[in-house]
Amino acid sequence: MKTFLQNISNSVSHLLFPHNCLGCATDLLNQNDLLCAKCFTDLPETNFATAPNNPIEKTFLGRIKIEQATSSFYFTKESLLQHLMVQLKYKNNREVGLYLGKLLGHHLLQSNRFSDVEALIPLPLNDKKEYKRGYNQAEMICKGIAEVFEKPIVNNAVIRTVFTETQTHENRISRWQNMEGVFALTNEKAIVNKHVLLVDDVVTTGATLESCGAEILKTANTKLSIACVAFTI
Ligand SMILES: [Zn+2]
Repeated sequence: MKTFLQNISNSVSHLLFPHNCLGCATDLLNQNDLLCAKCFTDLPETNFATAPNNPIEKTFLGRIKIEQATSSFYFTKESLLQHLMVQLKYKNNREVGLYLGKLLGHHLLQSNRFSDVEALIPLPLNDKKEYKRGYNQAEMICKGIAEVFEKPIVNNAVIRTVFTETQTHENRISRWQNMEGVFALTNEKAIVNKHVLLVDDVVTTGATLESCGAEILKTANTKLSIACVAFTI
């Protein structure tokens, strides 16, 4: 009976609030879905979560000491994933962050490489534009991860002290120099002796994650892993 009433209620709400796939605009029946089955299966999964020495781990090799790193998908221009990132970062669509976070959470859960992670840290806000938007997309992703991969979110351990301008045309060394001193520890107690997972949306050069991670690693006996939704190839 309950299911019957639930079905009626879902149908009514579907009529009142039509809901479409963010990829192909197909009608979706489940209000919690953002993508249809086809668009979902077309997302380019990396399978990095279960793979040691994967390309994202190699990105940080020799730069910062990390335990494990993963990203759920490959990021390419003009792709559905780029469209989802635009929704999350510039169209105020927080649901996209939760949705992608849940997918990432499932990947973390399926791999035993991340089982001893004790806290999730969203990468602090990236620039002034994001500050104006009013929410941190990495925090939305963390909330989605935490729904599946049940770990606490710690968002006051490290903060950004300097808001940098977008640096798309600079090389890795000058980016790194620009990133020095950009982050500061504000609550070491929250992460001391812990294995923390630093979370962001897309990894490109890794310079921002490297800088923030280096700051986190100044805390005594803290271990660092990294998880992102997408990895740029
Ligand atoms: Zn679709």
